[in-house]
Amino acid sequence: MYLKSIELTGFKSFGKKTDIAFASRISSIVGPNGSGKSNVAEAFRFVLGEQSMKSLRSRRGEDLIWGGSPTLPRSNRAGVKVVFDNSTRLLDLDFKEVVVERVVYRDGENEYLLNGTKVRLKDVIRLLAGANIGGSGYQIISQGEADRILNASPRERREMVEDALGLKLYQHKKAESERKLEETAHNIEKTKSLRREIAPHLNFLRSQVQKIEKAREMKEMLAAKLSEYLAREHAWITSEDARLLAQARAEEAELKKLGMLVTEARGKRGGKSNAALQELQKKIVERERKLSDSRRESEKLSRELGRAEAKAEANTVMVEQIVAVPHVRQFAREVSEGISEALRNDDLSSVRVLLLHIRERIHSFVDGLSGAAPDTKEESQQRVETIAGSLGRVQKEETALAQELEALRAKITQVRDAGFAAERDLVELESSVREAQGKLAGVQSARANVATLRQAFEEEVREGIALVGAAIHDWQKAQTEGMSGDDRQAQEKRRREIERLKIKIEESGIGNGDAVVREFNQTKERDEFLGRELGDLERSAASLKDIIIELEKTIDARFTEGLKLINVALHDFFMKLFGGGAAKLEVENPKPHRKRADHELPDDEDSDEEELFDEKEELYAGLSISVHLPRKKVRGLEVLSGGERALTSIALIFSMSQVNPPPFLVLDETDAALDEANSKRYADMIKELGSKSQLIVITHNRATMAAAGELYGVTMGSDGVSQLLSVKLEEAEKVAK
Ligand code: ATP
Repeated sequence: MYLKSIELTGFKSFGKKTDIAFASRISSIVGPNGSGKSNVAEAFRFVLGEQSMKSLRSRRGEDLIWGGSPTLPRSNRAGVKVVFDNSTRLLDLDFKEVVVERVVYRDGENEYLLNGTKVRLKDVIRLLAGANIGGSGYQIISQGEADRILNASPRERREMVEDALGLKLYQHKKAESERKLEETAHNIEKTKSLRREIAPHLNFLRSQVQKIEKAREMKEMLAAKLSEYLAREHAWITSEDARLLAQARAEEAELKKLGMLVTEARGKRGGKSNAALQELQKKIVERERKLSDSRRESEKLSRELGRAEAKAEANTVMVEQIVAVPHVRQFAREVSEGISEALRNDDLSSVRVLLLHIRERIHSFVDGLSGAAPDTKEESQQRVETIAGSLGRVQKEETALAQELEALRAKITQVRDAGFAAERDLVELESSVREAQGKLAGVQSARANVATLRQAFEEEVREGIALVGAAIHDWQKAQTEGMSGDDRQAQEKRRREIERLKIKIEESGIGNGDAVVREFNQTKERDEFLGRELGDLERSAASLKDIIIELEKTIDARFTEGLKLINVALHDFFMKLFGGGAAKLEVENPKPHRKRADHELPDDEDSDEEELFDEKEELYAGLSISVHLPRKKVRGLEVLSGGERALTSIALIFSMSQVNPPPFLVLDETDAALDEANSKRYADMIKELGSKSQLIVITHNRATMAAAGELYGVTMGSDGVSQLLSVKLEEAEKVAK
């Protein structure tokens, strides 16, 4: 006994809260037409999650709510609670008792509760399916629907059978696995397409990153080479600068010294020496004049001495004794020259003048001779001695002057020589100055070159920073010992290598590249993530396929087995009801049909029925029924009478219930069309069935009532509210009328 009770509150004609407790394996609900019996059966359908309003004889949710009467106002909600004994864990919940509840509000809103906790419709359906409750609804046979299984299409019929065999749970699982597989396939395609989308970009980024890495390697190489180059260059510039500075200073000092010497030499050459020369010249002129005077005096004294000596010797004195022979010759030459001149001259007056001049000269000479003769010998002697003494002095003076002149001339030569030497020295010094200036200019030009190199060096450092960043400063740490940089050729080679590297880096066209590397890493991570995701998805798809195959096998095996058992039971029930004949469920040949995935669980209870299902084409083998009535030649369902149809349906429903008994069955006037004999047989079968499933049987039939362990009478008063009361069999018949 699983079904403990059902409680209806505001559901259809049950305007007041009504509780029906089921204490017996077979409970019968009786009552007059329109009292609300079928509403009880529908309450079961409703609470078990029925979504079809038609099956609940309504158009919308609101129709299920007590509509009100003059004495009892309408309700805002209709609620049905069904209580299960779960001590044997019929339902997969860890509770001894499970209350399933459904409420519908006037706005059509539905609520589902499990033990008072709101849940989704899906959860309710899944839970009940696990206990072989719900599904195609074959276990709640509504009034007039007993032969639904006969009217159903082969596919619907098969679904009912599958449902009865408890395959619904597997179908759900399979459908869910298929849905997941589809979703997974979709995700696989999506992931693949994402990877395909990423791939060209990733390849592009990869090639960029390779270039960047190469450029980075080149940059590292450049940094190392630059570091050495700059260290050497700096060492060279520093030492060269110092060397040239010292050289410049030395040249400057040399020039200063030479300048002083030039000034000195210029002083020596001019000025003082000129003055000395002038002074000496002046002295020479003066001394020459004095010497000439002395000579004239000496000549005069000599003549006087001659005359004096001649006088002293009186008459006997020869001209030669009075006048010195040179004077006489001089006199004779002058006279002779005068005569010669006169002889050459044709002009008479001029000759006369010349003759006069000669006569005068002769007179003068003769006068000189006659006047010089001394008076006495002593006097004459004395006079001779005096004149001789004067002549001696004058001659001495003359010698002294001649010597002085000689000395002065030597001095002039000496001063002039000294001037020449100074001039030569100056020329030499000036040449040295020019030479020193040339050297200094050379050094200064070399220093300017070094300064240019220093500028170039600083420019290279700046450029280096732009190219390789802070690593460029490593040159300062580089060992500069032994890097005198004197090997300029090697350094030039290094510089050229660096230039080549720079060009290569520039040609690579890659800048810093950090953003590209970051993007590459992100894209790669994303691609790897997608790759892993794809792997997971493919594994999950494979395992889902396995699950589906397994489920299909299980469903197939159970269906084949179950169908066999149903057919055995059907044969048995059919024989009992018809006293012979045969009925059988047969699997049709598979046909393509638009599959409504009605085994899928709806996600949302508010969804329209249409929206719950999607359609797809598949091969489906439905179930047909072959019926062979005893003593009748005709076969087929179409030829059956109403009663025969009802009996066949009952046989089928009961055989299905036998194979996999549901916890309970609700049969709403399934026996309505049976005659008395068949009603008895029906009652027997009810008893048999009751041993396997709990039964709630709505009936007007006495035999059926008699089979029940407890009876409930439903009545409806003038207020239109259905009421329920427990009745005895004798009362039941009365109540039923
Ligand atoms: P029968 O023996 O003829 O099959 P029944 O006992 O099965 O009759 P039901 O079909 O269960 O009768 O009940 C129908 C009654 O319920 C009708 O009188 C109908 O007016 C009433 N009913 C249905 N829906 C509502 C509602 N929403 N509010 C009030 N009454 C309702």
